[in-house]
Amino acid sequence: MPVSVFNGREDGTFPCGTAAYEKRGVAVDVPEWQPDKCIQCNQCSYVCPHASIRPFLLTEEEVAAAPEAFNAVAPKGLKGADGLKFRMQVSVLDCLGCGSCAEVCPAPGKALIMKPLATQEAEIDNWDYAVDKVAPKANPANKGTVKGSQFEQPLLEFSGACAGCGETHADSHIKAPCRRPTRCRAETSAPVHAEIISFAAPPINGTAFREADASCRRQQSRQSSQCCQSYH
Ligand code: SF4
Ligand code: SF4
Repeated sequence: MPVSVFNGREDGTFPCGTAAYEKRGVAVDVPEWQPDKCIQCNQCSYVCPHASIRPFLLTEEEVAAAPEAFNAVAPKGLKGADGLKFRMQVSVLDCLGCGSCAEVCPAPGKALIMKPLATQEAEIDNWDYAVDKVAPKANPANKGTVKGSQFEQPLLEFSGACAGCGETHADSHIKAPCRRPTRCRAETSAPVHAEIISFAAPPINGTAFREADASCRRQQSRQSSQCCQSYH
């Protein structure tokens, strides 16, 4: 790779959101959605630390154009989703196999069953379709609730932290212009996030990034999290 590739990046900043291109496929088992059992509570999406399972709302036309293995069902308890279909979609190549989603699923008999990654390869195309082709919809629920929050775009995606990381789980709930890279060291406290968001509102620049990062490091040293220190 020639050095010239880095022209314009001399200050060390780099584009955000690049983890979306790093499809690792490291999970042994990944969740398989059972639409007939799902009560559409979105708790699975809420607890996923890696933003690897998300609800989608689709028009009839979007369902008809989807890959063969892509099924969707009538929405439940969503007055603002008339005429749309609901699907819980897993990104099996971003999932780390922690099982948190299946663990929390309150549906009788469980609507998520952990299965070997090799059995879920159809979900790769399904995820790509959901992300690339399904148009964003107006949130049909209160985004201040667990259910409604998960119809919003997660702005911290595909954390490369350890499977089931409780810290990135909290980070992934930020619905604000915090566009730090995936291995954000932002700790989970609201004051720190408020600080980061105020520093890092786009367009982010090198100075703002370094100040936000320093803030994270101060918080990190206070919390002394051995696990997460490895990401810096
Ligand atoms: S198994 Fe873990 S990483 Fe995978 S979708 Fe469920 S909560 Fe997310
Ligand atoms: S937690 Fe279970 S019941 Fe709730 S939306 Fe996810 S799969 Fe469906």
